[in-house]
Amino acid sequence: MANPKPDQILHKYDIVVVGAGIAGLMASTYLSKAGCKVAVLEKSRGVGGRMATRRIEDAVCDHGTQYFSVKGRAFGSVVLEAKESGVVEPWCDMFPKAETLEDAAVIPLDEVGHARWKGSQGMTSLPKHLAQQLSESVKTGVRVSDVSIQDDSVRLSCENNEVFVARAALLTTPVPQALEILTSGGLVPPNVDSATWEALASVEYSPCFSLMLKLKQPSLLPDPGGLEVCSGPVAWIGDNFQKGISSVPSLTIQATAEFSRIHFDTDPILVQDKLIKAVHRWIDGDISKAIDGVSLQRWKYAFPICPIKAPMIAVQNSPPVVCCGDSFGGGRVESAASSGLAAARWIHRFFA
Ligand SMILES: Cc1cc2nc3c(=O)[nH]c(=O)nc-3n(C[C@H](O)[C@H](O)[C@H](O)COP(=O)(O)OP(=O)(O)OC[C@H]3O[C@@H](n4cnc5c(N)ncnc54)[C@H](O)[C@@H]3O)c2cc1C
Repeated sequence: MANPKPDQILHKYDIVVVGAGIAGLMASTYLSKAGCKVAVLEKSRGVGGRMATRRIEDAVCDHGTQYFSVKGRAFGSVVLEAKESGVVEPWCDMFPKAETLEDAAVIPLDEVGHARWKGSQGMTSLPKHLAQQLSESVKTGVRVSDVSIQDDSVRLSCENNEVFVARAALLTTPVPQALEILTSGGLVPPNVDSATWEALASVEYSPCFSLMLKLKQPSLLPDPGGLEVCSGPVAWIGDNFQKGISSVPSLTIQATAEFSRIHFDTDPILVQDKLIKAVHRWIDGDISKAIDGVSLQRWKYAFPICPIKAPMIAVQNSPPVVCCGDSFGGGRVESAASSGLAAARWIHRFFA
């Protein structure tokens, strides 16, 4: 193994997990409980990835995931434990839908619903809870720039000059970001099987604008504070006040993939104005006076368009380097969690 440069700080672990979203945290929890020495490297200041919550002064807004479902047993037991700790709770069984944003009458619900879950303090509650249990294993503000193989080890170099050497690595970022990291480290064909590379390179994401508004008055959204919209520039409006995570009225407005793609590079002020005008019917009062604060988030990698059907893909077996996350399965919180768990189980076989 090459020696670190004099200004580099070298760390040794059994397994390094890149990304502290739900996939990375589920994987790390499993591996840590199985006795492995794990480091979770996260580029942001906080954990959760797209399970994200932001404040506009005293208003709290979920600006990524709005809710999640639980179908499988493995994720179910994590959610149940988190519920008993007061970290998550059911929000409702389903949301009303409107044909258009102008519709005062929402489409009556005729399906049988299932529980939609929320974090008690916002969507970051669950990832924060998992990260707390992993304690010092989680290192935030650490961006991995490349992953390479040296001798029998995986070497992960970070922008802050730290180098992590491990017996295995698990990349949980959206696949296009994982490919950049692998490419920088030379883990590309012919060093990687070309069919595997092509499968990974086929994953594309749609973007999403998420607009957060602090309101002076409660919104006009119907109970329970979430509305799916069938046409127009907006796909979803969520009321964080009715949801019970914000002590003051606030909305989260999510644009459609089409609107977000067309306006991805448009001046954010114009995007903001278009979205506010589109949802004016659900805001109480004149929109020029009813809004007390605004924040716009532009997610480049919001939803995988055609997720890979397999739960994970090994870029290479020895030493193992694995890609997982919501690019595998269904592009939702539970599929990301299941993918992380599947990857952790697969990697753990090498340590048994
Ligand atoms: C606007 C929006 C609304 C959504 N609504 C819902 C919903 O209502 N229900 C639902 O089930 N799902 C929803 N989703 C999808 C859901 O949020 C994701 O499927 C899930 O959170 C993905 O988890 P993950 O761990 O795979 O990825 P992420 O949460 O993206 O985690 C990956 C992590 O990797 C980190 N990272 C990236 N590059 C690096 C690097 N180089 N070094 C270190 N760290 C790095 C990122 O910062 C991030 O924290 C929504 C997504 C968005 C964007």
